[in-house]
Amino acid sequence: MSAEAIRVCLRCRPFNPKEAAAGYSRVVNFDSAASLTIANPKNPTDTKNFTFDAVFDEASEQVTVYDTTARAIVDAVLSGFNGTVFVYGQTGTGKTFSMQGLSDPPEMRGIIPQAFHHIFSHIARTPERQFLVRVSFLEIYNEEVRDLLASTSPQSVPAALDLKEHPDTGVYVKDLSSFIVRSVDDMDKYMAQGNKNRAVAATQMNATSSRSHSIFTITIESSAPGPAGPDSTHILAGKLHLVDLAGSERQAKTGAAGDRLKEAAKINLSLSALGNCISALVDGKSSHVPFRDSKLTRLLQDSLGGNAKTLMLATMSPASYNYDETLSTLRYANRAK
Ligand code: ADP
Ligand code: MG
Repeated sequence: MSAEAIRVCLRCRPFNPKEAAAGYSRVVNFDSAASLTIANPKNPTDTKNFTFDAVFDEASEQVTVYDTTARAIVDAVLSGFNGTVFVYGQTGTGKTFSMQGLSDPPEMRGIIPQAFHHIFSHIARTPERQFLVRVSFLEIYNEEVRDLLASTSPQSVPAALDLKEHPDTGVYVKDLSSFIVRSVDDMDKYMAQGNKNRAVAATQMNATSSRSHSIFTITIESSAPGPAGPDSTHILAGKLHLVDLAGSERQAKTGAAGDRLKEAAKINLSLSALGNCISALVDGKSSHVPFRDSKLTRLLQDSLGGNAKTLMLATMSPASYNYDETLSTLRYANRAK
């Protein structure tokens, strides 16, 4: 596995006004562009250092994060490779902020909308190729896959979809809708619609979206006449998965019981399956990558490892009261490099 096929970066969100008012101490120190130190608030001499491909402190801007992390993956997808971007971390640490951001002002846009702009500006600059761009949007909740762009009645929960395997094209979601998009506005519209459906489904299922994984997938195909004319058409096809993972927090703390506990077990299962797959891929020596252990990893199998480009962006809080969760996020991310 080439060193750059899987990259792991870390982003710290700022204190929010409530935390600032409460006077929590800051447990993290950014030592360089790639390394940070975290101190145990109960014992400040207990410090741990972590190094990633890049680290982003509280002041980091959306455009910097995009340029340092996702941009190269989107370029690879435009060139016919598959790619996956994950955001991983405790709920409330900036996964969705990093992945989607805020629509206004434009500087607050996250990775997904910046990818839309990147893709369509590339298309505008490449008149010699014909492009076909499609999107789909799904969530995995309790090991069930649901279409976030399904055209069902707005107040109902769409049916759980099955994963199938095609001998040539691999694992796919049966009956998942996908839409051709011709502009940034088209893509924005589908992202907004999927988010709305995600919120509705969460309410109907008495859940919160922090407990589901969402995957926004952009498929880009392009063709151009080859050197020997129309009979030698040169085709490229790449797929980009943008994955907002369920909150990584351990559920015991929140006193989970019954259905909540089962749900927590499933979240933990897919996050640990993902960690196991990524570390097996990074390790390169293990002949077995346990993709089949969760829906999430099965679904992303052809976009992890091999020729695919993967980025894990782990997100954390700077505050002392989040120390235990933050340390576990750092350890998870560290294992993935
Ligand atoms: P998560 O998706 O991990 O649960 P969110 O992305 O919803 O977390 O972030 C929680 C809150 O913190 C939101 O109000 C979000 O706008 C804010 N936030 C997160 N990261 C940043 C950041 N880097 N800069 C400014 N605000 C942020
Ligand atoms: Mg979120």
